[in-house]
Amino acid sequence: MPCLKIYLNHQMVKSFYFLFLILSVAATGNAQEIFSTNTYPLTDFRPPLDIVPPALAGSFGELRSNHFHSGIDFRTNQTTGYPVYATADGYVARLRVQNSGFGLALYINHPNGYTSVYGHLSRFNPKIAQQVKNIQYKNKSYEIDEFPNADLIPVRKGDIIAYSGNTGSSGGPHLHFEIRDTKTEATINPQLLGIQIPDNVPPVIYSMYVYRLNGKPFNEFTPKQYFQVVGGNGKYNLNKVTTIHLNGEVGFGIIATDKHSGNSGLNGVYSIELELDGKKIFTSALERFSFENSKAINSHIDYPAFLNLKRSIQKSFVDPGNPLQIYSSLVNSGRINFNDGNLHDVKYTVTDSKGNKSTMAFKVLADAKAIINTPTQAAGIAFPYNKTNEYNAEDVKVILPKGTLYNDLNFVYKKLPKPQQNAFSSIHQIQNNLTPLHTGFEIWIKADTALTKYQSKALIVNTNRSSQGGYFENGYVKANPRTFGSFFIAIDTIPPNIIPVNIADGKNMAGLSKMSFRISDGLSGIKSFNGYIDGKWILMEFDTKTASLWHSFDERTLPGKHSFELLVTDMKDNVKRYAIDFYR
Ligand SMILES: [Zn+2]
Repeated sequence: MPCLKIYLNHQMVKSFYFLFLILSVAATGNAQEIFSTNTYPLTDFRPPLDIVPPALAGSFGELRSNHFHSGIDFRTNQTTGYPVYATADGYVARLRVQNSGFGLALYINHPNGYTSVYGHLSRFNPKIAQQVKNIQYKNKSYEIDEFPNADLIPVRKGDIIAYSGNTGSSGGPHLHFEIRDTKTEATINPQLLGIQIPDNVPPVIYSMYVYRLNGKPFNEFTPKQYFQVVGGNGKYNLNKVTTIHLNGEVGFGIIATDKHSGNSGLNGVYSIELELDGKKIFTSALERFSFENSKAINSHIDYPAFLNLKRSIQKSFVDPGNPLQIYSSLVNSGRINFNDGNLHDVKYTVTDSKGNKSTMAFKVLADAKAIINTPTQAAGIAFPYNKTNEYNAEDVKVILPKGTLYNDLNFVYKKLPKPQQNAFSSIHQIQNNLTPLHTGFEIWIKADTALTKYQSKALIVNTNRSSQGGYFENGYVKANPRTFGSFFIAIDTIPPNIIPVNIADGKNMAGLSKMSFRISDGLSGIKSFNGYIDGKWILMEFDTKTASLWHSFDERTLPGKHSFELLVTDMKDNVKRYAIDFYR
């Protein structure tokens, strides 16, 4: 998963989990439940950088937009170019170059059954860089995803394999590092495998929320109450409140982050435990996860609050369609019924990956008078979370495959008038964006007859005019949006933009190491770019986050006059051409 966190901003409210270390097992009474019983090798791996002491800009499993962070982010003193070392013997099993994502990335398979992954690299070591370039010229593509044979690029522990960078979807210079189970590709907290990060600071708890579930599925209508949390050094309390009066079925949630010793930023916590009257009723602990489940972060957190309040509240009750394997000791999925009139003890324990912990306790009086009802919702159609659901209307069809929803849904659809500009259908309002989806869903929208001559240019957009992709078939445009929202058909007939940065027709480029451009597309997005010098394909490198496209001159371009041609194509096959002569 890419690193979209912006590292310079320490105040960012982030959340999440973590993992354990053998050392911490002795320190915690709940070790058996929180910390893994898996045995991982503790001495096989060395750190991937020589920066001492190591500091993290991002922790394993912490909350990112739409995914759990899949590794740890080592700080690199806000610069690039630090040597990156093979953490153990093995061979380069995968070489990947992407416009976004991990940018330049390298995977090493180790004989102990694990794979180490190094992302956002500025460059590979010269030998590997040459092989990558050969592959790029062979495939005529900047982006590659290559799986070399085991005997091709063997590495020894401590070999320099690459240099740290900021390529791909990176919010600042750092090294993204992962250790995966080679067979399953599940990603595991590297701190479990002996990668040491100094930390004797317990997690921080900021606030607590009570959700009035009232026996209903959690959604944006669930009434919630906010409680400020005060304290420090591992001991937290509700501000000015010792007893909360509650009635009926409720759930709890908290906002917490972790601090490390030294130079690390504000990172995610490892585990959250909730006890009722001394008995555990909810534990979340992120030891490892599968990439296919990563999006369920949106079920783990209060997703409506994340969108509306920009807050990452970690719920302590589990949605029925949540596939994450990070929960244990669940009683009634973490939902609690307060209807016995008695006084109850509730206690949170939040732990970081080193076993440092913080607690917060309060009392709940089950009070029949303390009812808060769920507001009545608009009449809709019942979509069970554990089935495939379909909605058919006159000019729209919606299909939610099984596994799309985390909760039962009261499905609401509305048709709205066609927008004035670039629209070839009515607006179809499908629920709203506050319902998290695990996978995309299928939407078919019937096209106006006016679309006839633009069928190949048609796509579906939402009301922010953001492309959802799609293609025309049998009178409909079909697409797979990843979120609910309001959609209609538009067309893209406008080619991409090419802005030359340092090159012009007839220019002498002799003193310059590269030629640079900015490229963009107004609607459907860039599908491909291809540059040619004297009619021969050349490698052009692209960085999505800055929209920069460049070619570094090499021995292929000798002194003298040359022709250059650049073709940039969008997803609807509109092509922009830029052609000039230059001197070298
Ligand atoms: Zn990362």
